[in-house]
Amino acid sequence: MLVKLLGSAAGGAFPQWNCACHNCRAIRKGTFQGKIRSQTQVAICGDSNSWFLLGASPDLRAQIESTPELHPRDGLRDSPISGVVLLNAEIDHILGLLLLRELQPLSVYATRSIRGILTQDNSMFRMLERVPNQVMWTDIHSATPFPLVDPAKHDSGISCRAVSLGSHFPAYVSERRRSELASGESSSGLIVETTTGKRLAYLPALPQITDSLMSEIESSDVLLFDGTFWDDVELIRVQASGRTAREMGHVPVSESLALLAQVGRPRKIYIHINNTNPLLNEAGPEYRQVRNAGWEIAEDGWQFEL
Ligand SMILES: [Zn+2]
Repeated sequence: MLVKLLGSAAGGAFPQWNCACHNCRAIRKGTFQGKIRSQTQVAICGDSNSWFLLGASPDLRAQIESTPELHPRDGLRDSPISGVVLLNAEIDHILGLLLLRELQPLSVYATRSIRGILTQDNSMFRMLERVPNQVMWTDIHSATPFPLVDPAKHDSGISCRAVSLGSHFPAYVSERRRSELASGESSSGLIVETTTGKRLAYLPALPQITDSLMSEIESSDVLLFDGTFWDDVELIRVQASGRTAREMGHVPVSESLALLAQVGRPRKIYIHINNTNPLLNEAGPEYRQVRNAGWEIAEDGWQFEL
C-alpha cells in the first residue's frame, strides 16, 4: 500500500488566514525555520490504480494538483480517486467532499450519524446526489472491518476498521439534532490493513489514550498521531481565552510523548499540527525534544510504502 500525506496541519492550516501568532507572523516574514502546511489529508492506494482519501480537506483541490498520481488518466472526465473515508463531521475534515462534486462516482464511508449530518442537515451536499450512484454511501460501524471498494465494485485490497474515539459533534450541529444521533459515531480513528497484514493506525484527533487504543497503537507498523497542540492551554495562552486541548478533543503532544515513550514497534509520526504549536519551529526546543524521542513530524508531500 502506498500512503501519501497531502496535508499535515490542523484546521486553518499554517499559516492561518486570520492568525498573527508567533509562528504565523514569523513564517509570513520569512524568518521562521519550518515548513508551511496545508490542512491534514491522507491518501492511500493498495492496487496502484484506485486511491482512497482519509477525510476530505478544504485544501483538497490544491493537494490533488500537486500530486501527479491523483490527476485524470484517460478520457475527458476521470479521476484515480475512488472513494473517501470520513471519520468525523468537522469542517476541516469534510469540506473537500464538496470539491469532488463534478458528477464523479465515489464510494464514501462514514458512520450513519456523520452521513445524516451531511446529507440531511446540510443541503449543499445534495450536489453529490444529482444522478443515481454518484456517491455510494456505506455505513461504517465501530470495530467491524470493511473493505475499500471502488464505485465499479473492484476491491482495493485494503481493509479498514473504525475505532470510536469521541462523543462530541461539531458546533454547527444543533442541540436537538445531537440528541437524535449516536454519540459513539461522532469521531473515529481508523486502522488500515494491507493484504500482507501491515497496519496503519490513523489517529489525527483523539481525546485520550485508552488501554484498548494502546494495544491498537502497539500492533501497528506506522502511527499517524494527533499532533494538534503542544500543551493543554496552548490556545488559551495565545488568545488569552478559549478552550483547552482536551476540551477540544486532543491529547497534547507533551503528554502523548510520555504516554507512548515505551511504544517501540510503529514508526511514530505526528500529524494534524495546529499553527500555534511550537514544535513547528525547527530551531526550537520542542521540535528537538520530539525528534530526540524518535518521533517524526509530518510534512506535506511525504509518502511511504506499507
Ligand atoms: Zn497562528
